[in-house]
Amino acid sequence: MKVMKFGGTSVGKPERMHQVAQLITADNEPKIVVLSALSGTTNALVGISDSIAHSDRESAKRKIDELEAHYRNFVQTLVHSDASLANANAIVTEHFEFLNIILKISFSEALNKDILAQGELMSTKLFCVYLEENGIDHLLLPALEFMSIDANEEPQIGSIKVKLSQLLQQHASVKLFITQGYICRNIRGEVDNLKRGGSDYTASLVAAAINASVCEIWTDIDGMHNNDPRIVEKTIPVELLSFDEAAELAYFGAKILHPACIWPAQHYNVPVKLLNTMQPEAKGTTIQEDADSVGAKAVAAKDGIIAIKIKSSRMLLAYGFLRKIFEVFEKYKTSIDMITTSEVAVSVTIDSDTHLDAIIRELDPFGNVEIDTDQAIVSLVGNEIAQTPDVLKKVFDSISSVPVRMVSYGGSKHNISILIPASYKKQTLQLINKGVFNL
Ligand code: ADP
Ligand code: ASP
Ligand code: MG
Repeated sequence: MKVMKFGGTSVGKPERMHQVAQLITADNEPKIVVLSALSGTTNALVGISDSIAHSDRESAKRKIDELEAHYRNFVQTLVHSDASLANANAIVTEHFEFLNIILKISFSEALNKDILAQGELMSTKLFCVYLEENGIDHLLLPALEFMSIDANEEPQIGSIKVKLSQLLQQHASVKLFITQGYICRNIRGEVDNLKRGGSDYTASLVAAAINASVCEIWTDIDGMHNNDPRIVEKTIPVELLSFDEAAELAYFGAKILHPACIWPAQHYNVPVKLLNTMQPEAKGTTIQEDADSVGAKAVAAKDGIIAIKIKSSRMLLAYGFLRKIFEVFEKYKTSIDMITTSEVAVSVTIDSDTHLDAIIRELDPFGNVEIDTDQAIVSLVGNEIAQTPDVLKKVFDSISSVPVRMVSYGGSKHNISILIPASYKKQTLQLINKGVFNL
């Protein structure tokens, strides 16, 4: 059994949905198909939710009506028979009635999550209407029946496995399942989600849970490129990545993958393929345990980073100093991305300012605390990159004009990370493209 996940642009137009139906019926292997919301929908739902949160009901209503008009148009070209059109329109009516009711209820975080879930709920239901119209046997498997997160917002892989296998057993004769990406239930049983871009994570969790032959992530580009195509003009796809390499790239900003989506596939050893819905014959990227070649493969950048430096002469020859500092971050559930130390100072980076004030307050007794906001981590990834002659030289030669705040090298075999002011991100990625990748 395999998993095929289609992202927002892959289902964002009726003709794309038609193409998805072709791709999923191209072979006879049983499959679970994970769909995102139509492109633009989740952003629109975030906008609606924000307006409601700010008690701007007029603007929320306007945004709901605009989105509804988009869906009414969409279904018009998606399906053709009167019966299918009626079914599709009834689905749109049901979900927009829900949004209009929500307008009248006072805002809460739980309500926000309900709003955000509407996109995936609609895309999957509408896709099923299209499949039905075309006589393609399938079953809609509601993600809210098996996908769940715990009190720390981590997926409950054990329970997902049990629930999914029960559902699959109940429907043993079904060869094609459709389910929603992104949405799940939380520990309180409420509707929740796996954070933006979370459909990739759903796909990988499902693939791990059913021990799939492969987890295919279908998107709008022919695989993981060596650099961010939104920022750098000339980029090329990477054919093969190890799980470790792909995980670093995803975590450090390669938007093609959700930051956490590699670990389930890696843990359960399910290969991941990144493929292009618009160009299905392209090779794409295969992600598996072993990477073939050594050397730099790709670079990614993540901004919104905060650097914290704690300077204290008490650190000299002292043991236990780092533990005390790390305990502060642990207390506030804030993960550290990069770390560098000298005898008298330690610098760390975090990607969230949610608890920054409290963290600074608690670090204060340990020494002088300095904060640099608006930083970016640029991460160069490749198998045994740290041992590859010249890579380090090429990196620093190419970015000699960029003020580097921190360097992390040797932490793993496949990563060199540098911290720079975010305003230099574009320039840095372009310079590395030339200097390291000769592009
Ligand atoms: P989907 O809606 O299918 O999940 P996303 O927009 O989340 O698609 O991810 C695909 C996009 O990721 C690409 O269109 C591209 O602009 C962006 N991207 C960023 N970095 C990379 C990279 N290194 N390789 C490929 N795509 C990347
Ligand atoms: N629809 C969600 C989002 O836009 C999840 C996804 O597309 O992966 O973030
Ligand atoms: Mg995505």
